[in-house]
Amino acid sequence: MNFEASELTTQVAHSARDFAQQYIKPYVMQWDESQEFPIKIFREMGKLGFMGVLVPEAYGGAGLSYFEYVAIIQEIAKVCGSVGLSLAAHNSLGTGHILLFGNEEQKQKYLPKLATCEWLAAWGLTEPNTGSDAGNMKCTATRDGEDWVINGTKNWITHGISGDVAVVMTRTGEPRAKNNSTAFIVERGTPGFKGGKKENKLGMRASETSEMVFDNCRIPDANRLGNVGDGFKQAMKVLDGGRISIAALSLGIAKGAYEASVQYSKERYQFDKPISSFQGIAFKLADMATEIMAAELLTNQAADLKDRGLPVTKESAMAKYYASEVAVKASNEAVQIFGGYGYTKDFPVEKFYRDSKLCTIGEGTSEIQKLVISREVLK
Ligand SMILES: Cc1cc2nc3c(=O)[nH]c(=O)nc-3n(C[C@H](O)[C@H](O)[C@H](O)COP(=O)(O)OP(=O)(O)OC[C@H]3O[C@@H](n4cnc5c(N)ncnc54)[C@H](O)[C@@H]3O)c2cc1C
Repeated sequence: MNFEASELTTQVAHSARDFAQQYIKPYVMQWDESQEFPIKIFREMGKLGFMGVLVPEAYGGAGLSYFEYVAIIQEIAKVCGSVGLSLAAHNSLGTGHILLFGNEEQKQKYLPKLATCEWLAAWGLTEPNTGSDAGNMKCTATRDGEDWVINGTKNWITHGISGDVAVVMTRTGEPRAKNNSTAFIVERGTPGFKGGKKENKLGMRASETSEMVFDNCRIPDANRLGNVGDGFKQAMKVLDGGRISIAALSLGIAKGAYEASVQYSKERYQFDKPISSFQGIAFKLADMATEIMAAELLTNQAADLKDRGLPVTKESAMAKYYASEVAVKASNEAVQIFGGYGYTKDFPVEKFYRDSKLCTIGEGTSEIQKLVISREVLK
């Protein structure tokens, strides 16, 4: 496998880097402190094709491959994990679900507006009592003539308040029964649907995370995605792609922390020498560089398989699991390398440290990735 970046991937990465430096970097700490979700930035990224990276041009998207998608998320996450997370959630989850499982009418209606971020997407699987055990969901959809009526609460939803369009997994069969879930598209403003409590988070503070509440929310059958009973299976396929984006997010954070550490270790003098000259620091950088490269190879492998339409469940779980753990470890070491300065908000590494932790939790925890990988290995 040749993972050398193509000219196109390099160009796209440059354009994402320039955008991040110019329009995101100056505001990162302001958004983080205030937990402001900078919706305008996403509308701007929509104009550049970053919000519909994988959507074919026929539906108004950029029509790019997973390699460009991974490059964009990395470059944005090197500067701000929160913007990277929201970008990944919009592209892979809400938009990705409609792209994978929408019928032609649904694709024509939603994808062009999602790809340009005229509409922002949300995706609701998790509930207050069912996270890792998402198949045991309580939120129900009941058929009533030509409509469905949704009742229940989703939580931890990225863009649960600001999302214009949400894809929602509901239970349409008996609890714990096979094929008991169905996915629907719900538009903001539909009576009975509202955003709920916004979470006050450790990291990823500029990415909006909130409840979505459904109280006798009536939607037409035309908003059903695929067959009745296929919702959970669809969600697992969506997560196969989504986990590649969380691997990319992790890589961006790890690289941001690493690059800041290399630079700082050359500039910071103690005992009349740059701290990089101490083996204790240099070996940390060696470990970071090695682990980041291994994570990148796993991520590229998953991206390649996904682009070729090959099975990717195991490989995307491996990439997500490994890259996210590397992001946490690298940003932890970065704080150590910066010493006391690393513990302050004047330097970027404390934010990498806080943001990185989400990567081992969102779209399935590290334990759940190991469950997925071991199931595939033991097949
Ligand atoms: C910032 C943020 C954004 C998010 N965005 C979205 C979103 O847009 N849409 C969405 O649907 N969800 C979203 N989530 C939810 C996320 O996917 C869940 O938090 C995650 O799947 C874990 O579920 P939980 O929090 O309920 O933890 P639990 O499932 O309660 O897990 C608690 C602990 O138990 C462990 N555990 C559970 N089951 C097992 C097992 N079988 N074996 C071993 N260990 C186990 C877990 O690994 C974890 O360590 C988001 C979460 C966060 C924090």
